[in-house]
Amino acid sequence: MYSNVWRAGSLAVLLVFGMSGTALARDTGTTTAIINALVFDGTGKAAYPATVLIRDQRIVDVGTRLRVPKGAISVDADGKTLMPGLFDLHTHWTPNSSPSSSAVLSGVYLAAGVTTVNDFHQAPESYAPRREWLGSIAAPHVNFAARMSTPLGHGADWADTATTRWVNSPDAARDAVRELAPYKPDMIKVFTDGWRYGHMPDNTSMDPWTLTALVEEAHANGLKVAAHTVTAERAGWAGDAKVDLIAHSIQDRVVDARTVAQLKAGGTFYAPTLAVYEPVKMGSSPPADPESPAFLSRQRNFRNAMENVRVLHKAGVPIALGTDAGMPGTPHGAATLRELELLVQAGLSPAEALQAGTATSAAAVGLQDDRGRIAKGQRADLLLVDGKPWENIQDIKKLSRVWVDGQLVLGPGVSLPAGNSRKYPQPEVVGPLVDDFERADERTALDTLRTTDNDGGNDRTWQLTRVVVREEGGRALRTMARMSSKDRAYASVVLPLSRGSVKPVDLRGYRGVRFDIRGEDGRHALMVKGLEGGRWKTAINVQPQWQQVSVDFSQLEYAPYRAVEGETLPWRGDDATDLQFIVDGEGAAMPWFELDNVEFY
Ligand SMILES: [Zn+2]
Repeated sequence: MYSNVWRAGSLAVLLVFGMSGTALARDTGTTTAIINALVFDGTGKAAYPATVLIRDQRIVDVGTRLRVPKGAISVDADGKTLMPGLFDLHTHWTPNSSPSSSAVLSGVYLAAGVTTVNDFHQAPESYAPRREWLGSIAAPHVNFAARMSTPLGHGADWADTATTRWVNSPDAARDAVRELAPYKPDMIKVFTDGWRYGHMPDNTSMDPWTLTALVEEAHANGLKVAAHTVTAERAGWAGDAKVDLIAHSIQDRVVDARTVAQLKAGGTFYAPTLAVYEPVKMGSSPPADPESPAFLSRQRNFRNAMENVRVLHKAGVPIALGTDAGMPGTPHGAATLRELELLVQAGLSPAEALQAGTATSAAAVGLQDDRGRIAKGQRADLLLVDGKPWENIQDIKKLSRVWVDGQLVLGPGVSLPAGNSRKYPQPEVVGPLVDDFERADERTALDTLRTTDNDGGNDRTWQLTRVVVREEGGRALRTMARMSSKDRAYASVVLPLSRGSVKPVDLRGYRGVRFDIRGEDGRHALMVKGLEGGRWKTAINVQPQWQQVSVDFSQLEYAPYRAVEGETLPWRGDDATDLQFIVDGEGAAMPWFELDNVEFY
């Protein structure tokens, strides 16, 4: 689930940079002894005084009369609480979230005591490079969930079908799970419910037969399934389908005995993400019009959400912790801690809320034998807290140390790997050939997965893209679109410059990019995308006959997703992630273009 590259690498990094600080416990057999802590072990047992020994990433002993081995690093924890690291089972590490960069975000989670998160946002193609990167820095364990939805479903309204698979039959669901399995997702996230909370147009929903087949196939592949559902009826269906985790709140009404029974029979956990549904979210100001139908419906929904936590908890449905962090007004890390407070407001005791955020969340994703509790053999993901959070949930914010895999990542004298202070992985140089479309496996010459991108939502541009044979010989890429009626309707082909667009690419050794292109209708453009919203674009003149077009990087103009008057980002060239060939046009127009021999010069 999590690579341990940095443990091997960090010692070298620290030596090279001559960092000082307390020696870190590493896989050299060094033992850390956390002495006389009040141990809140996550099992539901009351906190008790004990000493905990950790070595080789694991808890090796817990007890009151332990002999501390010679050479052990001792941590005097007298009067402090030692507890398992927190989980957040529902986050989105989006490029627009706060904070946005994964390295910064990792630090934010560790500083909040969150040591395991589920990221519901990434394209399967990016899992391997993301795992490599996260393995090279101090980070929480990140589980990647492969996304599935229905055509025109929630979660299918942005990005390409490689990022979110669209299925609407049992066969399609099984096929999609089998196609996803080689990417080694940690789980599946399925959007089953298109209800938009009564104040937005609904999306499509998944029928119960498709969902049942999806869960069966996922379980056959050793994958847990989290479902986005927000209505009582569909929550019941999720239970019937044996979905492992409901990743949102049920909000249309208070659940009845039948829904409770369905969830219990399904062994389904419930992570209500109250933090994202608070009518006035943390750090937000109250609405201008508190009587607006949207705000009133939000308040009504939230009352149902809170009541459903209380009812389901009382009925014995296991409550887990998730937030939907990364969504507007739901900042990473802070939202996890807010969720604990909201669970307490909804009727859990502080100790029960902590259990939801540790052992129960571990069990929800099948990790109960690995982490989530303080017990011999468990992974040493631990928090030391200056207070008694099981009595007063606010005390969870008084974190004094955090260990991940037995390694101190927050606390006195900690030095983090150099990668933690860089926002992104080191850029690499690629090319000059980006793609000649000759590979039989539909990947670019850079071994990246070509994707498409177009305007999203219910009224969206449709696009078909495939490799075709050129009359002159060889192959080219053809894309054809039917434009939606939006002002900003567009279709595009994206050529990632590194696998999953995770590692930035340094183009400063090149002057520009050239390619063969032909096409009809619409306005064509080339865009080079960079990290942190960097987008630079230039119009290209496309004819029905093939021609070679050269675009000097100096021709590119800053083209942000949302323009801010007077704001510009100069072309850097050292953080490029994708080339995007765009066509836009009027509603119902059907432009097409063909592309070949894309290379830097
Ligand atoms: Zn979400």
